[in-house]
Amino acid sequence: MQHVAPLAKLIEQFRRLPGIGPKMAARLAYHILEMDKEKVVALSQAILEAKEKIGYCSVCFNLTDCDPCRICQAAERDGSVICVVEQPQDVAAMERTREYRGLYHVLHGALSPLEGIGPDDIRLKELLARLQHGSVQEVIMATNPNVEGEATAMYIARLLKPLGITVTRIAHGLPVGGDLEYADEVTLSKALENRRNM
Ligand SMILES: [Zn+2]
Repeated sequence: MQHVAPLAKLIEQFRRLPGIGPKMAARLAYHILEMDKEKVVALSQAILEAKEKIGYCSVCFNLTDCDPCRICQAAERDGSVICVVEQPQDVAAMERTREYRGLYHVLHGALSPLEGIGPDDIRLKELLARLQHGSVQEVIMATNPNVEGEATAMYIARLLKPLGITVTRIAHGLPVGGDLEYADEVTLSKALENRRNM
């Protein structure tokens, strides 16, 4: 036994987190043992509180602590435009640009036949339902600039054509194969500004 049991258990928990290998897991666990108890309590409470208080908006499926979320509720947002993204992190990236004033729709994934992810596995039905009211004039496809993101944008554009809604795709200039989440504000602002019709 390399570590006493409670320490081994803590390391094991850290190892389950994305991007954390065995060395980092051990480093974090040892660090926590060195911390003041009140700071450890604050950390564990923050984790629990985030998990308990945050859910998905029933309209746009972004993460929120109220429903509908603050963006969906905001009177100053432009309800005629919906920006479609793959993940809640992408909403945060778009909001950082401070350029976009419309609403969002989070798909929670992208179409990927190879991984068996089809239209029913992402929040697509919910997007179509939102477009039935006729108040939305433009849907901006801001899925990631990789194979799955492009395929998803094309698929949705084809579905929306008959509804008479303008579908645009954010411009390239975003790193191909990259994630929207990691694009800097300037690149993302430009990509939004230079969106083209699909
Ligand atoms: Zn919302």
